[in-house]
Amino acid sequence: MLQPAEIERALVVMAHPDDVDFSAAGIVAKLTDAGCTVTYCLVSDGQAGGYDLDIPRPQMAAIRREEQTKAAAEVGVTDLVFLGRMDGEVSNDLSLRHDITRVIRQTRPQIVITHPPQIDVSSVYGSHADHVATGQATWAAVYPDARNPFAFPELVTSGLEPWAVDEIWIINQPQPNATIDVTDQFDRKIRALLCHVSQHVDPDRMVERVRQWNGANAQAAGLPAGSLAESFFVADAR
Ligand SMILES: [Zn+2]
Repeated sequence: MLQPAEIERALVVMAHPDDVDFSAAGIVAKLTDAGCTVTYCLVSDGQAGGYDLDIPRPQMAAIRREEQTKAAAEVGVTDLVFLGRMDGEVSNDLSLRHDITRVIRQTRPQIVITHPPQIDVSSVYGSHADHVATGQATWAAVYPDARNPFAFPELVTSGLEPWAVDEIWIINQPQPNATIDVTDQFDRKIRALLCHVSQHVDPDRMVERVRQWNGANAQAAGLPAGSLAESFFVADAR
């Protein structure tokens, strides 16, 4: 497994604005601190999120792009790609694989961080249909599409050469094989999460829940008491 200091380029593919901040903003901050260039690829604009029913959905899309852009800046990310799918309607189809493949070939990352490609029946919220579809499409984009010159040949014609990603880092796995200590990055992760103002009815409770999750990750991995960590399943794609 690549260590954070060895990673020069990373791509995060998530279904909705704020998914990355709950699951991986700590490792993102750690990577950008070390000089890594991180790109966010947001599949949907999160139009179906939030609790204010009076906000028109097109307006919510604009709000959420702005919130995600601010949150990204908190952890050192300025390169964001919005694929513009409708929240709640993401499907693992060739169109989505094409778009993610294009972003992979443009950014040429060593690692791609994304959702699990399978439903976890112990996590209904984590297994949102958009998450699963994004995880599956990203998996297929990493292998075989992005490295296969015969997949989406018009990409090669437009100058985007095949690219082989080394590792897929899967968030929210029941049995992770990699735990990253993000104690020093946790305050920035929380600042990023709090940028999603439209999504938090009770920000204090949200912060406490994330602290508990990250504390439990650290404890499960045997890190010193008081540590906070993010966990992943790292799949070798070499
Ligand atoms: Zn989500």
